[in-house]
This record gives sequence, C-alpha cells and structure tokens, in this order.
Amino acid sequence: MTTPAKPDTAKPLFADHGCAPAAPERFANSDNIEITPEYEGFNQHNDMFSRGLWDSKFATRITMRFYRSFVKPKERVRDEEGFAQEDFALRNGPWVVTEMFAEMQKAKDRRDGFTDDFTPHLPPKVEPADMGDPKSAAKRVKKTARIYGADLVGITAYDPRWTYRSKFSGRTMSSKPVEIPEGITNVIVVGKSMQYDLVRMSPTATAATSAAAGYAEDAVTLLALAQYIRSLGYQAIANQNDTNLAIPYAIQAGLGEYGRNGLCITREFGPRVRFGRILTDMPLAHDTPLSFGVEQTCEICRRCANNCPPQAIDHGPPSTYTFNQSNIKGIKKWTTDGEKCFKFWVLKGSDCANCIRTCPYNKDYTRLWSKIMRRLLATPLRRLALILDDKMRLHDQIKPSSWWRSENGRFEVLEKAKDHAPMPDLKAQQDRVKAIRDARKEKEAQEAQAQ
Ligand code: SF4
Ligand code: SF4
Repeated sequence: MTTPAKPDTAKPLFADHGCAPAAPERFANSDNIEITPEYEGFNQHNDMFSRGLWDSKFATRITMRFYRSFVKPKERVRDEEGFAQEDFALRNGPWVVTEMFAEMQKAKDRRDGFTDDFTPHLPPKVEPADMGDPKSAAKRVKKTARIYGADLVGITAYDPRWTYRSKFSGRTMSSKPVEIPEGITNVIVVGKSMQYDLVRMSPTATAATSAAAGYAEDAVTLLALAQYIRSLGYQAIANQNDTNLAIPYAIQAGLGEYGRNGLCITREFGPRVRFGRILTDMPLAHDTPLSFGVEQTCEICRRCANNCPPQAIDHGPPSTYTFNQSNIKGIKKWTTDGEKCFKFWVLKGSDCANCIRTCPYNKDYTRLWSKIMRRLLATPLRRLALILDDKMRLHDQIKPSSWWRSENGRFEVLEKAKDHAPMPDLKAQQDRVKAIRDARKEKEAQEAQAQ
C-alpha cells in the first residue's frame, strides 16, 4: 500500500481546532464576520424546521398542513396566482427524491439528508488508493463532482465548530448525538444552482420548485461522489441539511461571500445555490476564500431586507445580536429572524426566495450585462451600479401564469410583472432601522441587567 501524502495545505482554519477562540476572530478574512469567545455551536433542535415539530409556539395545525402539503397534492391549493394544483404539483415532483432518502431509514430514527447524514452504501474496506499529491487529488475529485452534476465545488479543512452540537430526533422530539468518525480532515463543498427563471416567481409554490429541484439534484451528486470516494478507500460522509452548517464551509471553500440575507453569494449564480458537503479523510488541497465586493455592496444595498415580506432581514450593520434561539450565538454577522421567515412560509403555504430573487447578484451570468454589473459592483461605482440595476427591473416578480403560458419558461419572453412589491419609502425604512436598533439596545440592556 502506498501511504498517501499529507496535504500541504490541510491546516486547520482555526489554530485551536475544537474550541471557541480566546479572542474575536475574523472569518475568511471578512471584516463583517467575527467569531467571538461566546460562540457555542448550534443544536439542530433549535432549527426552525425542528421547532415546527416540537415547539408549541410553532407546532400548530397550520404548520402541520404546511409540512403535509409537500406530499398531499391539494393541502394548500387555492385560488391565488402561483398556488394552483399544478403549481404545487410542479414543486412537489422533485421532493420525492429527497423524501425517499429521508424515509428510507425512518425505522432507525434517521432522516437522511435532513437530520442525519446519508447512510453509506459501501464502507471504506479497500486500501486507500494513491491519489498523488493533494493538489492533483483535489483536481480529480472536483472533475468527478462536476460529472455527477455539481455546478460548483470547493474544498476546505474540517472544522468541528461547524458541526452541530446535537442532531434532532423526530422520534423523541429532542436531541441526539452527532457522531463523526476519527480521522476526518477535509470537507468537499458541492454547489447546485437553482433555476433562475423559477426563482423569479418567488414567493409562490411555482418558484419553490427551484429549491426542490436543487435538493434532489444535490442529493444525487452527493451520494455518487461519496460512493466514488469510498470506492477509492477513503471515508466519505455526505451531508445536506444535517450534521453541520453549510454557509461557513461554502465561504471557507472559496465558493462565495457572506451576504446580508444570510446566504453565501457566489460569483457564478449569486445567492441562487444550495450547498451539500462531504466530510472525508482523503488528502486534498484547499481553496482560499473569495472576495469580489459583496460585503461592501451589502453595506449600502438593502434590497433583500426591503423585499422580505415579514421583514426578517436586518437593515443594520453586522452584530452579535440574536433574534431568538434559532440564531447562532457568538458570531458577529448579519442575522435573519428565522421565526418571522418560517411563519411567513407556513402562512403562505410554500417556501419564499425573495431574498434570492431581489439580490443584485442573482443574475443569468451568460449575459454580458450581468457580467458588467458584477464587475461594477466590485468597484467604488457600486452605488451607481445599484441604481442602474434597479432601473432595469430585472428582479421584478414574474407571474406564474405568464411563465406557464411561455414557450420555454425563459424570462425574456414573459410579460413584465405588474405585481412587484414596491420599495418602501426612505422615511419608513429609516424608522424601521431605528425601531430595530432600539429593540436591540433594550434587549442588550436587559441581558446586561440580568447578569
Ligand atoms: S426567504 Fe423570504 S421570508 Fe425568509 S428571509 Fe428570505 S425574503 Fe424573508
Ligand atoms: S440584496 Fe443587497 S444587501 Fe441583500 S444580500 Fe444581496 S447585495 Fe447584499
């Protein structure tokens, strides 16, 4: 057996691999993300989708109808644009793939891809193959991932701080332990883009097909890639919504920058990407974090926040403020209010993607204008670029009825949307920012008093 070479770039992201930093720590060279000594990690039990099952505040009849609507065709069908039977049918089609994996190990209290990693189908019993140096191994893994359907692939070091402190058990409605095998050193992050034209119809069931299809395609890519790695004699644990936080890994793997909407904004698709991860012990070279001006754009652009129907996105600067238990504690960053977001999804009867649709980085980058805009947003002319981009109205909502009528679903053949939510006026915006800041200060003062 040839012993594989140790990766020369496989340095842990953080010096003290496994506990919180003693002093605030910049993440991925970003000025807007800082990990403080108060960082605790995250329990999946506090995730909004878990709380929708156990927390009496959210586990209501309407929430159960929302969950059921993904499998019961007519549960939330109504006479509203984008919520007809065919819209739900379109959305629910791809969910069957992810649901199949989730249901497969139910008897063992596992929901593969949601609360648990995908069950391995081939343990690494064979001798590890010689993959050459970590750089060429990374190149081959990335090539394979693309063959299996990945749109983006990046590699970074495994960081236990992004691993959930506990997983959620659907059987007991409480926490269960996370078990990561010894020897995991690297994380392969696989990005699958969501379809641009579908996202343009958010917030409707028609638009939610983009997430459903992204999940289904991502699951297939992850499973195939994990099997490839195991067949080469290395460990491979495939994760989707389970086990660890996707966004920090995607950023660290050089796939994009963190945005005000809480998503990783990529150069290729903006925020329109779903990220899966594979934890492995295969020695692989790492990618470096990327910077193309997103942070600076988010400081002056509040489109996602202005167009979020329940106002769940922060208008202010990055901070360690948490809205509720579904936020991660101890990281200075832009944070969204998951409770407000989830409530809106439940009431609407389907998932929303307004914070993706309206982002100036959400573009079809096969077009010259989109490339020019991305370039401008990376320069001090970004304010002007945002004004121009606004005028182009490329982020208006497309009516699902127009999309269904179109020949091929392409946005250029669709009629101009008439139901685009108008931007709130400046005064209302300022008042809202002030109210949010005041509430935050009050909460911080109360916390300080309680200590
Ligand atoms: S998904 Fe919709 S409701 Fe949730 S934060 Fe984004 S815009 Fe707001
Ligand atoms: S819409 Fe604007 S503020 Fe929100 S993530 Fe995109 S660039 Fe940042």
